[in-house]
Amino acid sequence: MTACPACGKALRRGYLFSTKDGALSFADEVPGVFQNAKHAEGFVKLTNMELGRRASAEAFCCNACRTITVRY
Ligand SMILES: [Zn+2]
Repeated sequence: MTACPACGKALRRGYLFSTKDGALSFADEVPGVFQNAKHAEGFVKLTNMELGRRASAEAFCCNACRTITVRY
């Protein structure tokens, strides 16, 4: 079992997934609506858009401090 990097409690394994058609991404800051997300500081592409499926990435959820850790 993996421990939470924030509080050290046990993490629940799961997936971070999109709620609409599209790609999942991670960046240091959420880019503005009119900014190309790929140009955001620290941008990391997690998934490609997949037709007929939700984009998802393996993630670990900490219910104690509401932290999600994502692997890519
Ligand atoms: Zn935690």
